[in-house]
Amino acid sequence: MGNILMEISVPLDKDCFIEMECDFCKNRFMLHKDVYEKEDNINFFCPICGLPNKINTFFVPEVLKKVQQKAMNYMLEELEQTLGKNIKKINKSGFIKMSMKSSKKEVEKELYTPTVDYIKCTKVCCNIEIKVMDIDKETGTYCPVCGRME
Ligand SMILES: [Zn+2]
Ligand SMILES: [Zn+2]
Repeated sequence: MGNILMEISVPLDKDCFIEMECDFCKNRFMLHKDVYEKEDNINFFCPICGLPNKINTFFVPEVLKKVQQKAMNYMLEELEQTLGKNIKKINKSGFIKMSMKSSKKEVEKELYTPTVDYIKCTKVCCNIEIKVMDIDKETGTYCPVCGRME
């Protein structure tokens, strides 16, 4: 059996931002998909407290849930494709009666809507855009890539 390559993209909002949460200060912000996907960026600085952490520690539960949902749907589809053909054979043999229902599949929602309103904030040092909450923008934010405070 060959390996199944599963490509699951993280849910993004309409501007292609992904919502994240800092594990240290529990504050939330959003990073652009391009910044998040750039391979050089293994660690990110939290824009609010400025502490660096690994990218996978920043995922919020809602985003993780959506990724899991996508993975589940993908697996169900794979199962249907591989099992579907064999079910007829199995049923013909008369030993076991099997049927597949695809109605249980959860509806895949592509677009992600964060629970709070974020405003865009440009980081000139690295030429990137982030989204933070109003109050955080006022008090100043760190650049998630280089960690500089502006
Ligand atoms: Zn933080
Ligand atoms: Zn920077």
